[in-house]
Amino acid sequence: MSYERSISAFARARNVIAGGVNSPVRAFKAVGGSPVFMKSGKGAVLCDLDDREYIDYVLSWGPLLLGHAYPAVVKAVTLAAARGSSFGAPTEAESELAELICAMVPSIERVRFTSSGTEATMSTVRLARGFTKRDAIVKFAGCYHGHGDSFLIAAGSGALTNGVPNSPGITEGTARDTIVLPYNDAAAVEVAFAKNPDRIAAVIVEPYPGNMGFVLPHPGYLQALRDACTRYGALLIFDEVMTGFRVGRGGVQARENVLPDLTTLGKVIGGGLPVGAFGGRKDIMEGLSPDGPVYQAGTLSGNPLAMAAGIATLKAVRDDATLFDRLDILTKLLCDGLHEIFTKHGVPHYSNQAGSMFCTFLTADPVTDLASAMTADTALYAKFFHGMLDHGFYLAPSQFETAFVSTAHTTTDVEHTLAAADAAIGQALG
Ligand SMILES: *Cc1c(COP(=O)(O)O)cnc(C)c1O
Repeated sequence: MSYERSISAFARARNVIAGGVNSPVRAFKAVGGSPVFMKSGKGAVLCDLDDREYIDYVLSWGPLLLGHAYPAVVKAVTLAAARGSSFGAPTEAESELAELICAMVPSIERVRFTSSGTEATMSTVRLARGFTKRDAIVKFAGCYHGHGDSFLIAAGSGALTNGVPNSPGITEGTARDTIVLPYNDAAAVEVAFAKNPDRIAAVIVEPYPGNMGFVLPHPGYLQALRDACTRYGALLIFDEVMTGFRVGRGGVQARENVLPDLTTLGKVIGGGLPVGAFGGRKDIMEGLSPDGPVYQAGTLSGNPLAMAAGIATLKAVRDDATLFDRLDILTKLLCDGLHEIFTKHGVPHYSNQAGSMFCTFLTADPVTDLASAMTADTALYAKFFHGMLDHGFYLAPSQFETAFVSTAHTTTDVEHTLAAADAAIGQALG
């Protein structure tokens, strides 16, 4: 298979860009080989520098719910660009996107836009600390909330000690204020609160974690988080940057009927342009400057091009009553098909799926948290990934990522994907 132009493009990039990429997972370190450079996308199909085409299950890591270059999004962005790309003054587009979000996400009464999910989670935690006048946060091992210092913390040695920095450059002081617990363990949350009754400002969680592969909550787990936060006067933050407008119109909170105090969004709400947002209860959001004392700002926040892409995307979501049902059916078809194929080849596997998100872990164990996810056979995944790539199917270059399906994918795409998977896993087992 010829990836010649991608290989030389990567060499060029490495001369001027740290590691040759602007986000580490793009470098293919987890699967080996050289990253594929893309030049265009249309619908479910990506095209690389060597003119090879791929059915895309990464979809820019989630944002492209409607597929690449969705006509209404392209048109909205083009028109917005022609009107001027940024004003540093309010525009009506910001209110329009905010209205769409407030109407569809049950717990959001007020919203503020940022340019990335990372900014949204950092700002949300600051707001929660300002509101509760407490310092500590609880997060869960394997949940990703962007690259803010407070989140790049691993569990300490004792199960309930304070966290330890996960990266050089993060101070012990920051780590002291982050308590890291296993996901899906409601008892651990109770113990953490009992030990720190007045110290925890917020519990932040990916309600369906999508950054350790894809994992689902045990029945009652999210409600237990809600109850514990309410009892101890802490805020519950749902990080729905990935799940928002992905697993349903109202995110996980609508599916599970558990309402957080604050929610972070990103990815789909930007329709492929850089956007994040956070929102929630009006009385809490009023704490933000200029109304309140908690500072938060952004030169390009609410950017007109990004808002235009977001509005076009969320209008498509609002106006299509069966969109999420169709995505769910198609994603199940793929997930069940993979199950049959891996079973046929005797490959131990376990799948989690909700809406247009899924992950098939190459392990026999049920995957419910980071520890069980880590039992997956990453060497076999790497071989399977490269086999699929050679057949023209672009999966995430790591076992510990979520696969996404868009409205541009068809049952024919899924059938072709399954045929390729059958061949690729056969070759991988060699
Ligand atoms: C992607 C993601 C983020 C970070 O968003 P960026 O736009 O990459 O900064 C935060 N939280 C979750 C759950 C995500 O999936």
